[in-house]
Amino acid sequence: MQLTLKNTLDMHIHLREGDILDSVIHFSAKAFSAALAMPNLSSPIINTQMALDYKNRILNAINNSNDHNTQTNTQNNIESIKDSNQNIASNAKSNKYSFTPIMSLYITHNLTKDELIKAKENDIKILKLYPKGSTTGSENGVSEILDKKTLEIFSIAEELGFILSIHGESNGFSMDREFEFGEIFEKIARDFPKLKIIMEHLSDRRSIDLLGKYSNLFATLTLHHITFSLDNVLGSGLNPHYFCKPILKSPKDRDALLELALSANPKASFGSDSAPHLETNKLKVNGSAGIFSAPILLQKLCEIFEKHNKLENLQSFVSDNALNIYDLKDIPNKTITLIKKDSKVPSVVKTNLGDIIPLFAGENLSWDFKY
Ligand SMILES: [Zn+2]
Repeated sequence: MQLTLKNTLDMHIHLREGDILDSVIHFSAKAFSAALAMPNLSSPIINTQMALDYKNRILNAINNSNDHNTQTNTQNNIESIKDSNQNIASNAKSNKYSFTPIMSLYITHNLTKDELIKAKENDIKILKLYPKGSTTGSENGVSEILDKKTLEIFSIAEELGFILSIHGESNGFSMDREFEFGEIFEKIARDFPKLKIIMEHLSDRRSIDLLGKYSNLFATLTLHHITFSLDNVLGSGLNPHYFCKPILKSPKDRDALLELALSANPKASFGSDSAPHLETNKLKVNGSAGIFSAPILLQKLCEIFEKHNKLENLQSFVSDNALNIYDLKDIPNKTITLIKKDSKVPSVVKTNLGDIIPLFAGENLSWDFKY
């Protein structure tokens, strides 16, 4: 059995920078046509110039990556390159996987209308909002989501046609943080009806209702939130490799989110939130939040959708929904074929700074890329 997917999209990925970027980029570049690179670097991406520089760093890292055995085969899968958008097409052509990094800007109070106009002129149309202190790299985020300056930015974003991606968590009790943030999502959705708002990495089944309530609210779903619950973090001994934000919740939450993914609800698209951290940082006290899933995303999604007899919906979940929600019609065409075949997840991904442990490290997979 095999499955060919067209224009696969990961709408939430942490690619990092430097040695880590060099070591992880080929996983995403190989499997996906394009991916939305998160802007929460150690110096966050707060303006257009920084975003364009980061995009170049990502493209350079792809060409320097040493995943030789997959290079030629992925190229064979490239169908055609549209000429409609020279900028995107030339970026994709210039790297061996035909991969397009989609850039976003990190919202701070210093974001001006002029800067937003400049961003739009450079094909950057996604803004990322981190409540201060909510997750890794959110130290520069806004402390009051609905303060005058942030609302002003939302208003300009609406006027200019930006998409607003939000890490929606309050600073309340861990298991209720996303639910408590719901009223802020509702207020923004009501007050800015033309602004498309993405509820990132849904983790709480109580958030799902909001999708039906507001036409301008959308969501991304991760692999880990549709697969695991809090029991994986602490049900049988503490496992920091499953510690992420928003925290994994109950089996009922997991099952409701899985259903949303399997049904290919057009309001939800795939965003892995794959977040590589060095093993040393995961294992220490106050360890880093984040699950590194990039090496196994499409293979695992095939397994899950096959298990639930919904393979026919995977194309919508990993591509078509996002193409519509984010209006990504200009992404160059690329197809990737997966085949029912045993493979093994690497037990570790080496970097010059230390090891990164991927999700399902050392375990078997029943799907693999077709070479
Ligand atoms: Zn994230």
